[in-house]
Amino acid sequence: MPHHNSRRAFIKNGAAFTALAAAGPLAGFSPLNAMTDNKPLAEKSMHGIQIGAVSFVDEGVENVLDILEKRGDINTLFLTTFTYGRGLAGRQIPGQPFPDHGSRESDEKTFHGGNYAAPHLEFYRNTALKCLHAPEHGDFDLLASVLPAAKKRGMKIFASVEDQWRPDVPGVKECAEVDLAGRRTDTLCLFHPDVQTFWTALVTDICKSYDVDGILLFNEHNGPLLNALGASHFQNIDSSRATCFCEHHQRAAKERGINFDRAKQGYRKLDQFVQASLKGSRPSDGYYVEFNRLLLEYPEILAWDKLFDLGKHQILEQVNTTVKAINKNLKVGFHIEHVNSFNPFYRATRSYEELATKADFLKVVCYNTCGGERYAHFIRNIGSTVFRDVPLEELMRFNNHLLNYGNEASLESLPAAGLSPDYVFRETQRAVAGVKGRCLILAGIDIGIPTEAASRKGSPEDAYAATRAAFNAGADGVILSRKYSEMKLSSLDAAGKAIRETVKG
Ligand SMILES: [Zn+2]
Repeated sequence: MPHHNSRRAFIKNGAAFTALAAAGPLAGFSPLNAMTDNKPLAEKSMHGIQIGAVSFVDEGVENVLDILEKRGDINTLFLTTFTYGRGLAGRQIPGQPFPDHGSRESDEKTFHGGNYAAPHLEFYRNTALKCLHAPEHGDFDLLASVLPAAKKRGMKIFASVEDQWRPDVPGVKECAEVDLAGRRTDTLCLFHPDVQTFWTALVTDICKSYDVDGILLFNEHNGPLLNALGASHFQNIDSSRATCFCEHHQRAAKERGINFDRAKQGYRKLDQFVQASLKGSRPSDGYYVEFNRLLLEYPEILAWDKLFDLGKHQILEQVNTTVKAINKNLKVGFHIEHVNSFNPFYRATRSYEELATKADFLKVVCYNTCGGERYAHFIRNIGSTVFRDVPLEELMRFNNHLLNYGNEASLESLPAAGLSPDYVFRETQRAVAGVKGRCLILAGIDIGIPTEAASRKGSPEDAYAATRAAFNAGADGVILSRKYSEMKLSSLDAAGKAIRETVKG
């Protein structure tokens, strides 16, 4: 199968390339309009970086832009405008070494999060969720401070907004998801009307108040099936915490003919299965068969999971429609999370072709250096429940085949080895083939993403190889991730070198 897939992708890409070459002058690529900056997004390779307010406050706007432009060859900024999460905002995360720029003082005690631009309250009248200015840099307005200077340099600016909250924000408790055990969580229910209104309000505020080129939306939350199984790299397994079973979900289910009580019963059974599996209590037919039987007896388990996806995709669509209604030239992109790369069940719920109908570009996470420890964690998680009968190393090899990974390190050595640049190539190529030219693919490149002590640390060579691999696979651009405040300048240099070489061909 992997061979078949690669061959198909190759033929497809080959055909696309031939078509493009044949189009020649018709494609409008003349020296004259190569000199104008007034080109649509697709005609210019995007060399992006994710960066938060703290870096501009610590190091100065012009100085940071100089570094990004001269060293990283960056032409597109993804400014972390709304989040309460540390993945995109704040300095280096606590416990990790600081890079060779910026303040070396931890912001563990001062980090707060929120809207790093200035929220305009009139947009948020119809939602209980308060959009508060992030307080840690006083009145500093990220977009107002960076936009004019960046525009002068011909850079594109996207506002990154992330569905990450803290429990003390007004409205969060009311809009929170309800788990299987009836507890309110810290994550927001995507069927709650106030949550849906909030995302529309936020992107309206940003696009009407600032001269941005578009929005990049981050939402890494997953549905109840993945929650229950802990079938990802970033969580421990607690099947009783599967979400969401709130009143708004019940209503949405009813409208679609999904039986709430049966769904809940199914997830209770799944919870019992997961708990027993974790203790090593093997069903007489084995773990996998028992799991599969549950899915057959309770089709509502999958229906409830699909309902979650629907809620998530409705918001993506709503954001896209809202932004386009404000200005049809603005671009909308979605961050496609790492679990999409590791988990074949999750992959099946995400069709690139379908996502392409809701976005101008997809940022596909291809983080390879930290990918080693993350993928190993994922394998250990699924190997402790559904696939518990399979020795872990064999499970990983089998999964590698399903995912069309190449020759990666053994499970034992994977965290220290990381995933390879070939992984970046394959994941980018899969995305490019998947969207069938309907939207752009920007590869999310791992530039020194923090890892555990014994795991691989991103080097300049890693940054160079991953960036080259993404472009070689046909990416329309890259987004250096996760944030400038955790990147070493030598790695930025290396990514910049790869970008320059690619542009020159
Ligand atoms: Zn809900």
